[in-house]
Amino acid sequence: MSIARSAKLLLIAIAVGFVVGILLGYAVSITLPKATQAVLADWFKALGDIFVRLIRVVIPLLIFFTIAAATSSIASARKLGNILILILVVYILTSTLATFWGVLAGQIFTPGASVGLQVPKDYKPPTPPSGVDILLSFFQTDFNSLLTVGGSMTTIIFAIILGIATVLLGDEGRKISQYLSLASKVMISFVRVVMYYAPIAVFAYAAWLMIKYGPPMLGAYGKFVLAQYSFSLLHFFIIYSIIVVLGGLNPVKYFRFQSTPFLIAFTTRSSAVTLPYNMEAAKRMGISEELFGITLPIGATVNMDGTALYQALSAMFIAQLFGIPLTPYHISLIVLAAVVGSVATAAIPGGGTVMLAYVLSVVGLPLEGVGIMLVVDPITDAMRTAINVSGDNASTVLISRFLGYKLQPQ
Ligand code: ASP
Repeated sequence: MSIARSAKLLLIAIAVGFVVGILLGYAVSITLPKATQAVLADWFKALGDIFVRLIRVVIPLLIFFTIAAATSSIASARKLGNILILILVVYILTSTLATFWGVLAGQIFTPGASVGLQVPKDYKPPTPPSGVDILLSFFQTDFNSLLTVGGSMTTIIFAIILGIATVLLGDEGRKISQYLSLASKVMISFVRVVMYYAPIAVFAYAAWLMIKYGPPMLGAYGKFVLAQYSFSLLHFFIIYSIIVVLGGLNPVKYFRFQSTPFLIAFTTRSSAVTLPYNMEAAKRMGISEELFGITLPIGATVNMDGTALYQALSAMFIAQLFGIPLTPYHISLIVLAAVVGSVATAAIPGGGTVMLAYVLSVVGLPLEGVGIMLVVDPITDAMRTAINVSGDNASTVLISRFLGYKLQPQ
């Protein structure tokens, strides 16, 4: 079965899982005693967590082999260098723009205003990691850390060096390159196998969410989600339209081909798991495989516009909830920290809220904020992941133009 067709069936199964999960969770929350609800909620959450754990295990290998295979297949070091520099520039620019949206959304919607939470008395702002700490965290100390989600920046760097080393071996290296490419195909296939479980995971998480938090949360959370969704969609429709037009692609085609990975990312909440579907969409947009083979796996890990927007907006929200005034200096710290935080975020469900701790600590905001944001994490994560993967493809269209590749959309 073609990947496009199986993606459609998968989306239908996930949608059914979601609806059944919501209904069942709601029924449980209004009929069963509280103690039984708590037990059931734990079981549902565990069923969802199995999916996340499977993803966590495969991510380092997926990222490693896709990037090593792609870099080892590019014969010219100069071409590779150009691609990497362009990736860096375009990804950072789009993520910075996304954080501006986040700040603007916080100022327009003021979702946390007049709630008036108290900052705990013994609260001391944590010391943020220094620039040196952040730089060194990209270069972990041993090989084992390549196999952890937290070491994904090191995995990327290691994979690129391995790719270059393979090319330098000339003819002999070509054999290794073929093996790397086969291994990358196996990893992508692994993800597709894990995806058979996604409908059950989505069902279980939806049921858990309903039991734990009841019908859609109103008030401050509702306003936050509205602010996040509207500005994320603005970024998606306006900024990505402009980017793909600059890249020479009809935006209608971009949105049509991007719709499948968008929905898969929205429901699975993992950029890594969506990678095979994003690659398929890139193929249909007519982007060269040589290019997206590098930009998309790196993008899945480092380019997260949706997360950057969310982290900036969350910092504004937390400051408003606690009534902490923000000066222009604080706001520029938020922008900077959200760009770095989004790069360091793991491409797994909930990664962005874990990394929110970093953003809050840089700005000196209460870390209780992470717990507060965790309540609505599945809802906010859905949108940020959808935007994250869409940004990778839009940026790749533009990079493709800069590098003189010809787009041949279907
Ligand atoms: N779940 C997101 C992703 O995989 C990361 C995040 O939590 O913001 O792209």
